[in-house]
Amino acid sequence: MKKSSSAAQPVILKHVPERTCIACHEVKPKRELVRLVYSSEGVVEVDASGRKPGRGAYLCQSPECWHKGVNKGKLEHALRGKISAESRARLMKFGVAIRGGEGASSRTGGIS
Ligand SMILES: [Zn+2]
Repeated sequence: MKKSSSAAQPVILKHVPERTCIACHEVKPKRELVRLVYSSEGVVEVDASGRKPGRGAYLCQSPECWHKGVNKGKLEHALRGKISAESRARLMKFGVAIRGGEGASSRTGGIS
């Protein structure tokens, strides 16, 4: 898919921001991923709005990725900080809760 002309690239009308899951490294539309924010020392929060300030990382809405990210240290690596046991437990609870919510994307109607 290499184009020879570098000039005047067509503008894609519908710009869908994409992010990479830090666990499986798949690139997906941002809205299909869950943003996590390193809000303060050792504290990581789930950012449903996607607008919280702080260092962010993204995970798929898949318990597997959460397990990898939270328990296997990928999240700590991505956020470049330690995650407290408390935050970790909270995140895993969230990650497990994702299961069963298949196809149900109406949890937060965050369309801007
Ligand atoms: Zn993933």
